[in-house]
Amino acid sequence: MVTLAAMRKIEMVDIRSQYLRLQPDIDSAIAGVLDTAAFIKGPAVKAFREELANYLGVAHVISCANGTDALQVALMSLNLKPGDEVITTNFTFISTVEVLVLLGLKPVLVDVDPLTFNIDPEQIAEAISPITKAIIPVHLFGQPADMRRIREIADNHSLYIIEDNAQSLGAKFTGQDRMPKFAGTIGNIGTTSFFPTKPLACYGDGGALITDDPYLAETMEIIINHGAKVKYHHDLIGVNSRLDTIQAAILRVNLKNFDDFIARRRKVAAYYDERLVSNPRIQTPIASETGTHVYHQYTIQLDPAIRDEVQNKLKVKGIPSIIYYPIPLSLQKAFTFAGYQKGDFPVSERLCKSVLSLPIHTEMDVEQMDYICTNLLNIIDHE
Ligand SMILES: *Cc1c(COP(=O)(O)O)cnc(C)c1O
Repeated sequence: MVTLAAMRKIEMVDIRSQYLRLQPDIDSAIAGVLDTAAFIKGPAVKAFREELANYLGVAHVISCANGTDALQVALMSLNLKPGDEVITTNFTFISTVEVLVLLGLKPVLVDVDPLTFNIDPEQIAEAISPITKAIIPVHLFGQPADMRRIREIADNHSLYIIEDNAQSLGAKFTGQDRMPKFAGTIGNIGTTSFFPTKPLACYGDGGALITDDPYLAETMEIIINHGAKVKYHHDLIGVNSRLDTIQAAILRVNLKNFDDFIARRRKVAAYYDERLVSNPRIQTPIASETGTHVYHQYTIQLDPAIRDEVQNKLKVKGIPSIIYYPIPLSLQKAFTFAGYQKGDFPVSERLCKSVLSLPIHTEMDVEQMDYICTNLLNIIDHE
């Protein structure tokens, strides 16, 4: 095993090393935008939108300022009424609940599958009421939720589906028709984020809306542009949410490399699996049979009694790790008004105490992976 001093610093996500590897292309993409000074709505924005739509095999990609805006705009396009209910997962980032509450909609939370971390479709079915209007599955940590069952439930009850695909762009889901489809292209609208740590990333904030529906596409295009189709003619109350041209130019480079990025992450995951899977005290991530995994995170589960101590000991060894997520949405202080109690969602509450996400990114080398696994296994043996 190499010593820490001899090794490149281990990061959760090593954005700088990735930049250095792609530097000539990234620098010239940025320089191209500087050269024209078309910082807003420049040609790279349109080009990126078309290229991503092609990549995903969808009719429309509408870029916007970030993944949270994308969720908000998607919901705004559906013409829902205040108080309408939207079912979503309790184990995710805050964005989904945040935009629902801001729009006067009612988040109805349901628990997740203990092994895939994704929303449990059967609990969606049980949570449907006469005023349920939509379902927001979140494809967590890099793999799609069970979209076959969710689609079926949505169709039976005439509900919209917005897929929060901030973490799993590039992953595919195979439904009953055996035709693999990209996550984010199965519901009425898919949303994503290009935040620097996400699978397809820019060097700041960015996001997008994905749809095959021409009416929703046009509505969302108007909403992100201050509700105007024609400048200074405002048909709807909208928002200002744009992907800036420099970020789009960077994203065009990263999209060209996207399949390679995913392959590199999968290699890390395969290495971790091989080294960690046989240890009875480590639950390695489970890849579902119906989807592919892009490993936005490599999230293991440990006994809650040792999890925090293991994390501290890894840190001492120079190995970062993160707890995604320490608190379920149902128990977040900001959301106490909803009245959820401890014990309402046993699976997500337990996951918050057992999960630990290990470093995974496109630039990891075998030395680093070996160092992480050797130390993790040592630490677990001594707990
Ligand atoms: C990152 C993330 C978002 C929000 O994206 P931003 O671009 O940071 O606004 C939403 N949902 C999930 C699941 C995310 O991981």
